[in-house]
This record gives sequence, structure tokens and C-alpha cells, in this order.
Amino acid sequence: MNTPKFKKFNIEAYKPGKSKINKIKKVIKLSANESALGMSPLAKKAISQKNLVLDKYPDGKSTNLKMAISKAYKCNFDKIICGAGSDEVIQMLCQLYLHPNDEVIVPQYSFLMYRIYAKIVGAKVVFAKENNFKVSIEEILKKVSKKTKIVFIANPNNPTGTYLTKKETLELRRKLNRNILLVIDDAYSEYMKNDDYSSGLELFKNKDNVFILRTFSKMFGLASLRIGWGYGSKQIIRALNVIKPPFNVNGLAQVAAAESLKDKQFIQKSIRHNLNYANRLKKFLEKYNIFSNAVSANFLLLNFDDCKYSANFLYQKLKNKGIILRSTEDGYHVKNKLRLTIGSSRENLIFMNAVRKIFN
Ligand SMILES: *Cc1c(COP(=O)(O)O)cnc(C)c1O
Repeated sequence: MNTPKFKKFNIEAYKPGKSKINKIKKVIKLSANESALGMSPLAKKAISQKNLVLDKYPDGKSTNLKMAISKAYKCNFDKIICGAGSDEVIQMLCQLYLHPNDEVIVPQYSFLMYRIYAKIVGAKVVFAKENNFKVSIEEILKKVSKKTKIVFIANPNNPTGTYLTKKETLELRRKLNRNILLVIDDAYSEYMKNDDYSSGLELFKNKDNVFILRTFSKMFGLASLRIGWGYGSKQIIRALNVIKPPFNVNGLAQVAAAESLKDKQFIQKSIRHNLNYANRLKKFLEKYNIFSNAVSANFLLLNFDDCKYSANFLYQKLKNKGIILRSTEDGYHVKNKLRLTIGSSRENLIFMNAVRKIFN
């Protein structure tokens, strides 16, 4: 029997950071930038309660969660949309904005989901070169054409760990044609303590031609619940609500996310933990001539060009010991580098011991 014909896509499917190794039961997963400290105890308590109603559809508008977001970030309730991960918000934006043959610009080594969702709706993805693994404003502007509809950047970017400063981000918006939507993905902004950095949300709360993406998957530790949000002009939000799947965000995610925002103590602890270990791991790896980006988010992009071992060699050796890093060859096509997520204290110590053993 024939399978009825479906559309063909010229897309490299997203391969997530690996989480399993054959025959090893307890792996240490440092491959997907998940939270080192798990989720907030307040959130955990809230979703462990017995009287949670899960046999009814959730609130399709995520009203309580949007109220919590607007309070925590001092932003406008009517300009928020929640999604099953920021992933889904990226998808909806592409559906809303892109006709076949429209163009989107993404930096060369940017997060993969922008190009995947843009291509699914038939748009053309144009890559802007980077300078030494950092987004280049000039290169983005060079790629603008009459067909450009969206420019996507993650700030800081995954997997490079580099970021545009406040000044550069403002410059990008100023120089980019005002009819082009600038999407700034703040996925790692909670971790950022660098003086010259400002998040997209801080800079562009009132700009109708900037759309901000936020997620609960990283610092808030809710990756499995799939919850993120977008922030943009009321017009965009109204239109997104028309195409949004009616019950896109599950009830547990809504409760957990709203609770997470209240847990200021957990947030502070996560930020401190990350800064402390990111600096320690960076210094430690430099002893083996493995250099990385300046500390920014909850991961480091490790460069093996000066190291006596290759990225692949270390990847395999660590894997044999049950420790998984992210190869940047899959999807990103970045050679001889590995992305290391900052783990819990225990995970980081095991990682450092393993590296020491491999090199000695
Ligand atoms: C991890 C990540 C996200 C989060 O995706 P979710 O769908 O919210 O889990 C978004 N953008 C970037 C750049 C990321 O690294």
C-alpha cells in the first residue's frame, strides 16, 4: 500500500543534548543547559499537592501565570503570551509572520529552532557571519533585503556563550529597518550579571517592533513541563492568540512557573551557584589548554584548538565514564568544540575528577 504523499522539508531535525549512554545507569548529563539545582522547592511543593485538578482542561489563557509574570517583571499583562516552551512561541511567530520565500536572518551559530520553524513555513533562512563566534551587527545588516521579515538573536547566544552588550543591542535595533521584527531570545538572561549587558525585556518593553522570548526551562528548572513566554506589542499578541493551540500550556506547568517566580531565594542561590562554578570550571579547564568564552550563561563553549586532545577524544573518554557533554558538530557544525553545562556541585566535581584522570 502507498503512503499518501506529504510535503518535503529540507531540514536537519533538531538533535537534543544526549541523555543516555548504553549500559551506564546513572549518567551525568551536562549536555542540555538544564538547571543545576533543579526546580524551586516552592514550585515542587505546589505541583505535588493532592488536590490539583488534572482531569479538566487547563486555563487556555494562562491567566494566573501571566499575572505572576507581569508582577515579577513589571511588564504589561496584555503583552504576554505563554507557550509550551519558548519553542512553541518561536513556532507561532514564524506562522504569523512568514510567507513562503520571505526571509529571516539568523547569526551563523545561532540557536537551531529559529531556522527549523522558519523553514517549515517555507521561509528562506539567511545566515549572518559572526566574528570569532560573536554576533556581528554589520553582518546582520548586510543580509537585509526587501524580503526580510524577522531577525532572530539569542542574547547571550547558545551554543557560543557570547553576547551583545546593551550598547550593541540598542545599535542593532536602531540600524535595522523598523519594519523588520527583531526577536531577542532572553533564555539565559537570569544568569547574566555582566555590567555591560541588558536583557531584551529590560531594553525593549515598549518597542512594538521587538519581540522578546523567555523560558522557564533553564534557570527555573522546569524543562520537562514545557513552559515559556513571549512579550510583544498588543497587536502581535492578539494575533498570536488567534493561531495558538487552545490548551497549549498544561496546568502543572502554569502552577509551577508562577510559584517559581515567587521564590527569590532559590533564584539568588541559582545565580550564585552558576557564577561560582562557571568561573571555577573555566579556570580548571585552562590548566589543560581548554579555553572558553567569558563567563555568561550556565554553559561554556570549550575550544580544543590549543589542547593536546581533540574535542571528540575528550567527548568519548567522558562518555565512557558516564558524563555527557554536547557535541557542537550536530546541527551547529562547529568543529573541535564541546558545550559544557554547569552542573550541581557533585556533578561538577565528578566532571573535574574525570578530566584530571584522562589527562594524567
Ligand atoms: C534552551 C533554549 C530555549 C528554551 O526552549 P524551551 O522551548 O523554552 O525549553 C530557547 N532559546 C534558547 C537560545 C535556548 O538555548
